Amino acid sequence: MLTVQHAGPRIAAVIGSPVTHSLSPVIHQAALDAAGVDWVYTAFDIAPGSAAEAISAMRLLGLAGLSITMPHKFDVAQLVDRLEPAARALDAVNTVSWDDGKLVGSSTDGAGFVASLAETGVEVADAHIAVIGAGGAARSVIDALGRAGAAEITVLNRTQDRAERAAALSGVATVGIVSDVSRADIVVNATSVGMGVEPGDATSVDMACDPSLLRVGQIVADLVYSPLETAWMLAAVDAGATTINGLGMLVHQAALQQERWLGYRPDVATMRAAATTELAVRRNTPR
Ligand code: NAP
Repeated sequence: MLTVQHAGPRIAAVIGSPVTHSLSPVIHQAALDAAGVDWVYTAFDIAPGSAAEAISAMRLLGLAGLSITMPHKFDVAQLVDRLEPAARALDAVNTVSWDDGKLVGSSTDGAGFVASLAETGVEVADAHIAVIGAGGAARSVIDALGRAGAAEITVLNRTQDRAERAAALSGVATVGIVSDVSRADIVVNATSVGMGVEPGDATSVDMACDPSLLRVGQIVADLVYSPLETAWMLAAVDAGATTINGLGMLVHQAALQQERWLGYRPDVATMRAAATTELAVRRNTPR
């Protein structure tokens, strides 16, 4: 196979389309710089259907690692040499790393979410969890919560057949009904409802579920990270719940990616600070 000689820093990147607004370059570069690793992390906009060329380029150019975002997560799962268990279950990859000359595909989103719960002292083992949503993020979360020992996962979604397919990912998951939200120890918004909506501008359609279903003592986690506090989270606080935003998942899934590329867990606090600063800049920049 043709190999390319390269001097200078190693290159890692996120591939997706569109990719301009990805926070990955900011988050990853901050941790690489803080650790004194001579890598450049950039973003490549790869047209839909062209993931194979990007993976060939990774092999040819010896790119150090790739993050994969939409629309390539499913295609890349077919292109790597080996899949880790979560990526195999989801048939989707968000990370490509090297292992002994072979490309390994992983999915770190769900494990990142579980890590974000753990850092706030929330136990998944034996918990009853209601997951609202059945898209890519919800599927990752359901798979990871099942692996982390959740007692029961109920899945609620606008489109029923997607809920059924997502629930099939875990032996402890079933399609739920609305009252399951009140019964749950942990409620997760894994829909895109609330993304980009300032709480002051929100109406009932910007709430993942009717907040009257939430109660004292619950953990209410929103995967949304912009804004950092959604109207639904504020309503959950009013109901007496403890809330967790999507920033923790965002930085922990990135930390798990770097762990695969570098062999050690990077400083999550550095990643979190970089993401927080960037989100504040974007919020204050008129579009
Ligand atoms: P996706 O695959 O497009 O799925 C979207 C989900 O939202 C589906 O369940 C969809 O329901 C539901 N939905 C969309 N609009 C809705 C509405 N108006 N009412 C009710 N349900 C609605 O997206 P995704 O990749 O899973 O992402 C979901 C959210 O998670 C996004 O906000 C994303 O930014 C966030 N996310 C956060 C992180 C993090 O690190 N914090 C990581 C990944 C994703 P249907 O099936 O009925 O269409």
